Amino acid sequence: MSPVVENVSCPFCGCLCDDISVEVEEEAIVKVKRACTSGLGIFMDYDARPRRPLIAGREVEWDEAVAEAARILSAADSPLIYGLSSSASEAQRKAVALADRIGAVIDSTSSVCHGPTGLAMQRVGEPTCTLGEIRDRADLLVFWGCNPDASHLRHFSRFSLTPRGTLTPNGRADRTVYAVDVRPTGTAKKADHFLQVDIGSDFEVLTTLRLLVKGREPAADTVGGVPVARLQELAERMKTCRYGVAFMGMGLTMAAARQLNVAELFTLVAELNEYAKFSVLPMRGHGNVTGADQVLSWTTSYPFAISFARGYPQFGPGEFTAVDMLARRAADAALILASDPGAHFPGAAAAHLDRIPTIVLDHGPSVVAAKARVLFPTAAYGVDAAGTAYRMDNVPIPLKRVISTGRFTDEEILDRIIEAVE
Ligand code: SF4
Repeated sequence: MSPVVENVSCPFCGCLCDDISVEVEEEAIVKVKRACTSGLGIFMDYDARPRRPLIAGREVEWDEAVAEAARILSAADSPLIYGLSSSASEAQRKAVALADRIGAVIDSTSSVCHGPTGLAMQRVGEPTCTLGEIRDRADLLVFWGCNPDASHLRHFSRFSLTPRGTLTPNGRADRTVYAVDVRPTGTAKKADHFLQVDIGSDFEVLTTLRLLVKGREPAADTVGGVPVARLQELAERMKTCRYGVAFMGMGLTMAAARQLNVAELFTLVAELNEYAKFSVLPMRGHGNVTGADQVLSWTTSYPFAISFARGYPQFGPGEFTAVDMLARRAADAALILASDPGAHFPGAAAAHLDRIPTIVLDHGPSVVAAKARVLFPTAAYGVDAAGTAYRMDNVPIPLKRVISTGRFTDEEILDRIIEAVE
């Protein structure tokens, strides 16, 4: 009988489900239980064949690849280190050490998703909680500008909508659910109430809710496309619930007003605590994007967009964010750690990546890996490497190694590059 590894954590999304069971036969994964379709692919589609590093598409020895990566980074005047979010926190920490060593700018995928959430946190704080508290206690859920029905497939069943908790023994029946978005979504269909907000009007709607919570009347019948009577009803539910939670996503962070939207929601949640227990939780996407924020914050004081060019960390969203650095051609070499800006960045930024030498560490194929000057095919944390990742609620979760391939980890390769740079 094949050995079964129990309580495996899926590294794919910010839920980091840690109840997966993986059956292994001769160092190959043959069966996976309890993962959603996204998580299943991480394990079942993993290409575990041994691979060697490449320089300009030519297979080389590991020493030669490390030497070439170190040569590129040492020669660069303005190197950029980007990605981090699908790696482990141990490797993220090494990426910061490398940035410090070579005077690089370091940025994570946070800058293109929840960067504005980090800015709002700095401004007004973050009244938050864990997913365990939500499962056990929350009786009012508000999903604002996020659609976990499509993005975090087990969120509803493990943490929010349907699980039976200590104070929610009847599961879904013990919860009232609102969805607020600019269009109907799968999440809206599963909610009890859906408020459709005009595009670009989230800030006004949030401000109106703050007004209503304080017992004041707005001088309008409709705000942002939503009748004030329906906002009044939500405000009353928020004030009278036992434990409310607002989940927020890129519908707030990447819409007009960005961090102002998030700061307004965080302020509303903080103010609601005068009436009821209320928390907010950003719906983080990549498996360890929360870890990237954590590691960068505890090592530099800042969550993303950090330059070490002056020998100390400087925070510069809009200046040291990877998209901005690349679009204004301010980087002359890049190390990409476990992400694919070649596929996801705007044209001008992606085009500049094609012009400069890139060093890529990744366990699978990607657009940026196909064009890399130096490619390190590393192990995947949670599959053939062990490490630590932070769940979307900032709880650190161990990632297990379920098969052994002998591949180097991101951490080991970064260590070797740090030793080799001048
Ligand atoms: Fe993996 Fe996310 Fe699916 Fe859980 S919800 S199994 S962490 S992809």
